[in-house]
Amino acid sequence: MATCIAIDEILKQTWGYGSFRPLQQEAVEAALAGQDALVVMPTGSGKSLCFQIPPLVDGGLTVVISPLISLMADQVHSLHTVGYPAGALNSAMDAIESSEIEAKLLSGELKLLYVSPERMAMNSFRALLRQAHQGKGVARFAIDEAHCISEWGHDFRPEYRILSTLRDDFPTAPIHALTATATVQVREDIIRQLGLREPQVLVGSFDRPNLTFRVVPRDRTYSQVAEIIRKYPDDAAIVYCLSRKDTESVAAALDHQGIKAVAYHAGIDTAERGRISKDFAQERVNVVVATIAFGMGIDRSNVRCVIHTCLLKSVEAYQQETGRAGRDGLDSECVLLYGGGDVARIERLFDGGDPHHLEIQRRNLSHMRAFATTVDCRHKLLVEYFGQGYEGDHPCGACDVCLEGTEVVEDGTKIAQKILATIRELNRRHADFGFGANHITAILTGGHTKAIEKHGHQDLPGYACLAGTVRERIAAWIHQLEDQKLLRQSGGIRSYLKLSELGNTVLNSREEIVLRDPRAVSDLQTKSDDFSGIDGGLMAKLRSFRRDLANERGIPPYVLFDDSTLRHLATMRPVTQEALLAVPGMGEKRAADFGEPLMDQIAAYASANGLDTNIARSSRPRRRERAAARITPSAITLKALFDRHISIAECAAEVGLAVSTVGGYLAEYLESHPDAIWAYVDNSTYDQIINAANENAGDRLKPIFEALSGEVSYEIIRMVLAHRKSTEAGS
Ligand code: ADP
Ligand code: ZN
Repeated sequence: MATCIAIDEILKQTWGYGSFRPLQQEAVEAALAGQDALVVMPTGSGKSLCFQIPPLVDGGLTVVISPLISLMADQVHSLHTVGYPAGALNSAMDAIESSEIEAKLLSGELKLLYVSPERMAMNSFRALLRQAHQGKGVARFAIDEAHCISEWGHDFRPEYRILSTLRDDFPTAPIHALTATATVQVREDIIRQLGLREPQVLVGSFDRPNLTFRVVPRDRTYSQVAEIIRKYPDDAAIVYCLSRKDTESVAAALDHQGIKAVAYHAGIDTAERGRISKDFAQERVNVVVATIAFGMGIDRSNVRCVIHTCLLKSVEAYQQETGRAGRDGLDSECVLLYGGGDVARIERLFDGGDPHHLEIQRRNLSHMRAFATTVDCRHKLLVEYFGQGYEGDHPCGACDVCLEGTEVVEDGTKIAQKILATIRELNRRHADFGFGANHITAILTGGHTKAIEKHGHQDLPGYACLAGTVRERIAAWIHQLEDQKLLRQSGGIRSYLKLSELGNTVLNSREEIVLRDPRAVSDLQTKSDDFSGIDGGLMAKLRSFRRDLANERGIPPYVLFDDSTLRHLATMRPVTQEALLAVPGMGEKRAADFGEPLMDQIAAYASANGLDTNIARSSRPRRRERAAARITPSAITLKALFDRHISIAECAAEVGLAVSTVGGYLAEYLESHPDAIWAYVDNSTYDQIINAANENAGDRLKPIFEALSGEVSYEIIRMVLAHRKSTEAGS
């Protein structure tokens, strides 16, 4: 098809991307064919290109309706960096700015216009649109965050309702609705409200393979949070807490541990909140500790880590908040710190008025609890929760359950029977109320709590039958029985557990019941991004280059070019125009605008550190496959080779990578296996390198290389310095 070639070329020239992501091409083609569409793709999967490409193909004006002014501004800035004629009209602009945009709109100079739904409600604006593009008017509409139109959605905005009249007012312009979260109900509602005509419905996988999910028992909140954040030293992290007080105490504790962090919640005044958002976007602040108030409007695409310090009220909310991680598609981590008291803590926040509403709140919470305590893949659970079959790999390689595995509990059936029988006995004694997992655990372990005394539960046959077993383990088993539907929830604001009919049958028939424990592993947690061989020094240099350039232009750094591009630059290290254009994300305009200074920086760094340049793009697996290959094949192979102390040159030949790249991997390997260094360097060489480093004060490699008359390779020097650093850090 002719348009296929054209849109491929546009993708390459303008954005520097080599191929489309799933459904992007279909969406673009539907738009060009004048067909309505509903596009449902998860955050970070590339919805924007779906409406940004068509105007570049046929020159027609696309009007994008978007709910948030800050997001609009970011998108427009980002489009300008690739030379795209786009603009926005919103209430944040003054009359002069607005009239400039209006003039460009009429002349046809603008191809893409972002507006707020409020603007779209104005008749004068609609009249203007009809005259736009020298009277040709609007070619098509794109409605971003389209779920905002539905009361069933999680973010209903009444002002979106006015968009129902678009169809009548602009009968010939096709409408594309785009959203990340849509249940079937919301989807139908969007189609109905907007009056879409036989829309092409494009629904992507809800899975986000670049996110690694992890649930960790909470024991020392502050140090656990600090430990996770330290894994991402120059990157952004968001920590979500349940209460304002918690955000402040966590932020203070982080500060105390030397991690700059800012608290953010609805009690902070608007101006200050705006400042924090801005500092975060401009990379002046990397860690924000927030309540859910820190949400919409945060478009920083390179958030590498989202931590929750407590369970939250629903899987929807969890998906929403973890959705802020890895919007640029790069590997990112979501950690939930979970404790046995979390469910009760959230139940206390329920409003107990309407029984129906209460029931919904309880059901939502119990799904979220099931996510936290599942012994199955967390990606699978999330995708299935949203009504899709899981099509990814199993094990997924990107959740703690799959990475670490579980073990079947020996005697699980017997243990489960004891638990179920105890609950049955409780049901008998207390027909119209019951107890939660905490109390039941206390009974089984032979606890001496007030409640046990009050109800005389020491007399239960099951009392202390699991004495000596860790309480968290039992609580986890109880939840597994609940997830197997052998127990059911009942009760009012405080829920409690009852034996279900199924549980009763299974108990009577002595059927087998499987219980699982997480496997206890200490360091199975490495992932590709911790082991990717990227030169940290060059990354830092490029990052500050980007920040300075972005600050000059008054835009956030990730808008100038994203972290994916940054990493490709650091690994491919282009120093010629041709190599530069091969970097994904380096379209022609960006290359022309700041390619020269960028290449100068890279060349200087590479020469000072003996790094190769102009490296062809590594065939990094695509997103979908990456879920399985979280640890890249070469990294796995290399690790095995390092374990056997194979020389760098031989390793390089074996995996087909440059010697310098293998050296980078080895340096990282040594951080966790410091003793392996003696297979690669003898004592006296080690000392010579350290002496040279001390004399030359610093970690720059070239002076050391020269001081040793070029007899010791850069790889060995780098390795020794890394080794010294890691042993110093350890002592
Ligand atoms: P969404 O709106 O779905 O959350 P975006 O449109 O913001 O996602 O895209 C997320 C990131 O993916 C952006 O950094 C974008 O540049 C990048 N991206 C989009 N399409 C492609 C593609 N075909 N190849 C490489 N990167 C892409
Ligand atoms: Zn998994």
